[in-house]
Amino acid sequence: LIQLYIPLNFLGVLYRELRQSLTDIERMFGLMHQHREVADAPDALALLPGPASVYFEHVGFAYDPKRVILHDVDFAIPAGRTVAVVGHSGSGKSTLARLLYRFYDVQQGAIRVNGHDLRALTQTSLRQAIGIVPQDTVLFNDTLFYNIQYGRPDASRAEVEAAARAAQLIDFIARLPDGWETRVGERGLKLSGGEKQRVAIARALLKNPAILIFDEATSALDSKTEKAIQAQLDLAAEGRTALVIAHRLSTIMNADEIIVLDQGRIVERGTHAELLARGADYARMWALQQQEREEAQLEDSSP
Ligand code: ADP
Ligand code: MG
Repeated sequence: LIQLYIPLNFLGVLYRELRQSLTDIERMFGLMHQHREVADAPDALALLPGPASVYFEHVGFAYDPKRVILHDVDFAIPAGRTVAVVGHSGSGKSTLARLLYRFYDVQQGAIRVNGHDLRALTQTSLRQAIGIVPQDTVLFNDTLFYNIQYGRPDASRAEVEAAARAAQLIDFIARLPDGWETRVGERGLKLSGGEKQRVAIARALLKNPAILIFDEATSALDSKTEKAIQAQLDLAAEGRTALVIAHRLSTIMNADEIIVLDQGRIVERGTHAELLARGADYARMWALQQQEREEAQLEDSSP
């Protein structure tokens, strides 16, 4: 009986581990309880490494045919440039990121990378070219080292450490009794939202992709850490094609183009200066956030 029990128990553990890691991956991509319809075309091309341009060409999309989420969204990110997307919660910003990573196919128009419709590319080559810092980062039940190296599994120890340093994680790791070997995730040390976000940033920096997507990448950080990391993100985005979804407008002032999305439609676009001069939605959001910032500063400095 004992002989039978041990292997069964072992299999049980193995099964749980496996199920957990699949759950992690699905959660990371926000794909729980959704089946994926995306498949490689039989004659799919591999996207070549190197600089990449992105074009959302009159994109229309709905998760559910009864409710259209994106209407005729049309914008381009030339190779090496940064386009920022802002808008209220629910306006469809994260959906743009999911579509570019091709978790779903568009229903109208097309998304192109270097002129290729995503549907004509292999998913592997496309995803190789893209690094995402998502809104909610999922950690694997493994060590911190593993969780960062995950950005590029063949990265050396020195490269992993450099990425962690750039993401402002080194001091945090140094203070942990088990350091890099600290187990994190659901059954390990629980990291704060800001710490998880920094792990995601380190992963993306390590991956070193042609296209970067930041989905409110600094929204969970306090303003001091945000400032430090913002500089690293700006550096990481330099020379890369970046889609930056931002909550705080102060983080995207330097974007080549800013797109304001409202209920899945582009309602305004331009540079920060142009949008301020228009005195419409963006200018109002900016004024509101400036006011909030000043109030927060007053609170910080009061005894
Ligand atoms: P944002 O990032 O701007 O807050 P999202 O792109 O996440 O907005 O969501 C846009 C709209 O799509 C929201 O109304 C949201 O409820 C809906 N939505 C997001 N994901 C799904 C999904 N998997 N299935 C159905 N509706 C979804
Ligand atoms: Mg979002």
